[in-house]
Amino acid sequence: MKNIAILGSTGSIGTQTLEIVREQDGLRVVALAAGKNVGLMEKQIREFHPLIACMWDDKAAGEVKAAVADTDTKVVCGMDGLLEIAVMPQAQILVTAIVGMIGIRPTIAAIESGKDIALANKETLVTAGHIIMPLAKEKGVSILPVDSEHSAIFQSLQGQDKEGLEKILLTASGGPFRGKKKAELANMTAADALKHPNWSMGRKITIDSASLVNKGLEVIEAKWLFGVGLEQIQVLIQPQSILHSAVQFKDGAVIGQMGVPDMKLPIQYALFYPKRLPMKENRVDFYALSEMTFEKPDMETFEGLSMAYEAARIGGSMPTVFNAANEKAVALFLDNKIKFLQIYELIRASMDNHKVVENPSVEQILSAESECYDYILTKLA
Ligand code: NDP
Repeated sequence: MKNIAILGSTGSIGTQTLEIVREQDGLRVVALAAGKNVGLMEKQIREFHPLIACMWDDKAAGEVKAAVADTDTKVVCGMDGLLEIAVMPQAQILVTAIVGMIGIRPTIAAIESGKDIALANKETLVTAGHIIMPLAKEKGVSILPVDSEHSAIFQSLQGQDKEGLEKILLTASGGPFRGKKKAELANMTAADALKHPNWSMGRKITIDSASLVNKGLEVIEAKWLFGVGLEQIQVLIQPQSILHSAVQFKDGAVIGQMGVPDMKLPIQYALFYPKRLPMKENRVDFYALSEMTFEKPDMETFEGLSMAYEAARIGGSMPTVFNAANEKAVALFLDNKIKFLQIYELIRASMDNHKVVENPSVEQILSAESECYDYILTKLA
């Protein structure tokens, strides 16, 4: 029996993780955390009987506490609650499936207390990869990628000579706006951007997929996870989302992982690694698959990707600003307060405005984040 704690249990990755818990023997849920979805959290507590449940929102925590007063689950809230879950001795693996930089401190706390991490929350590695990867090594814990591309790279590297790795081929569907030019993007609404052609995901990452910021975040995530240089990461548009990513070796051999676009496979692989357990989800039907195509990303139109490479090259606190500016801009876009291309403009302006801090501590990362938020609010006022 493996004991798991899930941060973000009511979201897209969180609920799919719980589907795997239902379907497979061998997993016991010891903690759940969410933001403010009281109704679903109550249902999850009644079904999975965790020892602890955390709601970020104070009021939501009070409501959950009242709703499950007849159970043995302890209800906590806020960052203290997330940290309590992160270090609880009963958990062996922490699934980090909350959105945004809020994931940094719980992830670090969990690593410090020796827990393996099933990492979905890419913002954590983007901003604090220089702290997290060496700490994980020092503590002997595994960072198991949940992101489908990184899982594919991880799977493709199994049993291979890592010294022989030449480059990573990081695939992308291209999102709902693939092929469009700037003039067409100008009037795209949140509803347009939320129509992803292949993947069903949370709202923030779906917008990030439309802007290719998501791919940029994944480039930075891959750099940290696999310890490669940026020049060794090549983004490849694969519109059918069948090849989930690949690696190319120094002898020219390319090894990749294919499958239908479904997050349950990478989640399950991370939870049971290195075992491959049966899964009843769909298979790729290669007879029905009429084509599998590849394209070069349009980095001029989709500046989210080019700015991510730039932020990563500059390093230090710049990836934090890239990420924080995007988080704020996407929230504003989803609220219909700004237009799609203003996401890029706000990231650009925030990066231009930022004075880089080399090798930032967690406190410096968090203050770069809040300074960036303040800068954007002042700029838009
Ligand atoms: P969702 O928006 O679907 O879910 C987010 C989850 O986080 C919800 O449970 C939400 O709770 C919870 N949450 C939000 N804020 C807080 C907070 N402050 N404290 C505690 N919990 C909080 O997101 P996704 O599942 O799509 O994405 C999660 C992470 O995984 C992101 O970093 C994303 O980039 C990454 N990822 C997602 C993929 C996907 O297919 N969805 C693929 C690869 C990576 P509530 O609902 O109560 O507000």
